[in-house]
Amino acid sequence: RMSRRLIECRRDIDRLNAPFLAIYESLIPAEEEKAKQKQLLTLLEKLVCKEWPTARVYLYGSCANSFGVSKSDIDVCLALDDQDINKSEMLLKLADILQSDNLQNVQALTRARVPIVKLMDPVTGISCDICINNVLAVVNTKLLRDYAEVDIRLRQLAFLVKHWAKCRGVNETYQGTLSSYAYVLMCIHFLQQRNPPILPCLQGMKPTYAVTVDDVKCAYFDQVDKLRDFGSRNKENIAHLLWGFFNYWAYCHDYANSVISIRTGSVLSKQEKDWTRRIGNDRHLICIEDPFETSHDLGRVVDKHSIRVLREEFERAAEILQRDPNPCGSLFDQY
Ligand code: ATP
Ligand code: MG
Repeated sequence: RMSRRLIECRRDIDRLNAPFLAIYESLIPAEEEKAKQKQLLTLLEKLVCKEWPTARVYLYGSCANSFGVSKSDIDVCLALDDQDINKSEMLLKLADILQSDNLQNVQALTRARVPIVKLMDPVTGISCDICINNVLAVVNTKLLRDYAEVDIRLRQLAFLVKHWAKCRGVNETYQGTLSSYAYVLMCIHFLQQRNPPILPCLQGMKPTYAVTVDDVKCAYFDQVDKLRDFGSRNKENIAHLLWGFFNYWAYCHDYANSVISIRTGSVLSKQEKDWTRRIGNDRHLICIEDPFETSHDLGRVVDKHSIRVLREEFERAAEILQRDPNPCGSLFDQY
């Protein structure tokens, strides 16, 4: 087990709870925003089904996993049963259709790691990314949403961490920092490790939900309404947890040897994952196992430079929560 440096929490940490909760509340999207997302989805469904009658349209990402803050873009997945479609051709065709219906800034990015069409809807003002047959993302969206149902503190913590990451410029995968998805996995892991735990390990329980997607078996306990009391023995509030989160990533995580894994509800070793050396562009400098694609390290985007940036930001955040007289301000300073 990792060694934990004992760091005493500031005495007045509970005083910070109300202001942090107020920030969380201010980030929650308004109902009318949800209605607008629905309106755009309905339009897209209509346009898509005219051309591909058997296609289904799913929302995924933060607009569907309950970790979406106000004014987020929406992520849409087109699912087709036909396995041998040419995605690039289809995305180009889709872009044509959308353009003819007056959607704005339509762009087909056929060479991206996940090829997409981007667009902006002038009626609702919402931007949207559409991908094809990325069904694993739809399933991991459900997993995250189910975790959020177990204990409200996950949503509170993840909103504040995502907000911090955006303000501090460390939520940019193309610059070598982490995706929102990775930050949410880090929050789930952290809450699984509390003592007493705040979250269970859903994939370690008897499965009530199982699908196989692209040869990956995805199975876990999804009757989360039965787990509403799970974390009630733990009384830690959000200020305390936020401090603990940054403290863990600043001073306690063993970057040289450890992999965090919400799939197993534990910390694995890089050795057993065979993530001990650089292969291609995967450097494994911070290791976050994907819950379903277990050979996939969400930290793969992090390089020699950006790992320093990230760790300095974790330390800065931990120090602010430890000592700053007004942490709610400085924590979220624009970098
Ligand atoms: P934001 O509010 O910042 O848009 P988001 O939850 O939509 O947050 P993104 O990073 O935009 O997060 O990713 C959208 C979705 O795509 C995720 O919820 C997840 O389902 C999927 N996803 C993103 N990155 C990965 C990845 N590296 N591996 C697997 N799935 C991923
Ligand atoms: Mg998104």
